[in-house]
Amino acid sequence: MDRWNRREWMTAVGVTAAAASTEGGVSGQAGDKKTQATKGLLPLVEYEPKSMLTVPESRVEKSRFPVIDIHTHLSWSPGPADNAPGGGKFSPTARLDEILPVMDGRNIKMLVNVTGGSGTCLDQALDYFQKPHPDRFLVFTEPSWWNIKQPNYAQWQADELGQARKKGARGLKLLKTLGLYLREDVTEGDLVKVDDKRFGPMWEAAGANQMPVLIHVSDPEAFFLPIDRFNERYEELHAHPDWSFHGDFPSNKEIHEARNRVVERHPKTQFILAHIGDSENLGWVSEWLDKYPNMHVEFGARIGELGRQPRTARKFFEKYQDRILFGTDAVPHGDEYPQQVYGDALYQIYYRFLETEDEYFDYSPARVPPQGRWRIYGLGLPETILRKIYHDNAARLLGL
Ligand SMILES: [Zn+2]
Repeated sequence: MDRWNRREWMTAVGVTAAAASTEGGVSGQAGDKKTQATKGLLPLVEYEPKSMLTVPESRVEKSRFPVIDIHTHLSWSPGPADNAPGGGKFSPTARLDEILPVMDGRNIKMLVNVTGGSGTCLDQALDYFQKPHPDRFLVFTEPSWWNIKQPNYAQWQADELGQARKKGARGLKLLKTLGLYLREDVTEGDLVKVDDKRFGPMWEAAGANQMPVLIHVSDPEAFFLPIDRFNERYEELHAHPDWSFHGDFPSNKEIHEARNRVVERHPKTQFILAHIGDSENLGWVSEWLDKYPNMHVEFGARIGELGRQPRTARKFFEKYQDRILFGTDAVPHGDEYPQQVYGDALYQIYYRFLETEDEYFDYSPARVPPQGRWRIYGLGLPETILRKIYHDNAARLLGL
């Protein structure tokens, strides 16, 4: 373009004029460098760049091997203040006739519904999912919190776990209640630590009853940092300010260390760390896995982290191929967490990530990458590893 420079050309076709009319709050004197640099800039929320890369795009309709998804929420149980036995109500997040066709179409052998609750809620979850379809659904139970101050809590909770196992619950799930939410008076007072001794008998009972513990503590590192322009999850935290643990909370490191002490104290209990231990730092997770043979990980809602470090992640999957479980953290319906909405698109992305060497694709079926503005790269794992990740590791821990 020799006769016109680019700015003159764009002005002539009206592009900068139109763009400038959408700008908000940018003012300054003509010639001011900052004004020039930001003139006509779109608000971040409107920016949806489409990749112009021309690279192979695979569609993986079915997983290479049948899948056991260790981390789904097919029902919710009552909150910490309301989960006394007999209290609260089981609420399925989808009907079986919505869930099963996706399973059949995507080669999913089994979903583990981890939020089965306790007491009568657990009974209903078992009746709805596991009893009519024992080969397709398993249900995990959850601890009760309402009575943690009662003197007999420790043994009571351990006994409850044994009862839940007798009824059919196959594991124990902890939401990130410990360390971040549960307080001495349930919702008030000091935060209860992850390695509080009151839970010792419960962790032991989980081991004695062959119930693996899917434990979620902490959150992405960015959730512990200020919600400012340097935060890589700025948009996610802006949309969900209540997810921020910046300020009056224990540090991310402190929570992980407390969880590790629990894993160390109970070597006969199998712990599955949700979300790859909620650490973007695979070197750190590797150190833990090397140290604690009863520790495992699943990667629900974290392919966005793994897939942006594909070379490190691939080595991690090779080294720990017997300790990694397939999980999605899927929740049917809703659009609040597009990276977790149960359905065909979700599983196809996970399969593409694990099985192909595709480059720079979305980790979530969403208009804008919901956890942070980056894309991911496939790991292209070999069949021997895929078989373990998709199925065998979970089958072994679940005693199938
Ligand atoms: Zn979850």
